[in-house]
Amino acid sequence: EKSIFEMILDKELESEIIYEDEDIFSIKDINPIAPVHLLIIPKKRINTINDVSEEDTLLIGKMVQVAKKLAKEYEINQSGYRLIFNTNDDGGQTVYHIHLHLIGGEKLKW
Ligand code: 5GP
Repeated sequence: EKSIFEMILDKELESEIIYEDEDIFSIKDINPIAPVHLLIIPKKRINTINDVSEEDTLLIGKMVQVAKKLAKEYEINQSGYRLIFNTNDDGGQTVYHIHLHLIGGEKLKW
């Protein structure tokens, strides 16, 4: 069964793709919690951070590189931002296809 993000990538679900390369794509979160709230997503389906293998190490690093680039593009690199991987139930994960939240554009409370 496809994840929501795989459906977006396959154009079965509408969402503007704001960044894409061979391995990674990015979209705006449908329910933003701050002025900038982007999701950086590997094209490869990995259900949770618990399922990241040794061979995914470079991919995870590339996700951080994309986050850094987008933070600059959205002009929050200097003001600051937060990068988050929610994992499983207590972590608040709702989509079981790993994604890095890039959140900023205001002083974050928590
Ligand atoms: P999680 O809670 O798993 O860490 O994050 C999943 C995120 O995906 C949530 O913040 C939610 O708002 C976002 N989301 C869920 N469905 C869609 C969708 O169809 N389109 C977009 N752009 N974001 C979505």
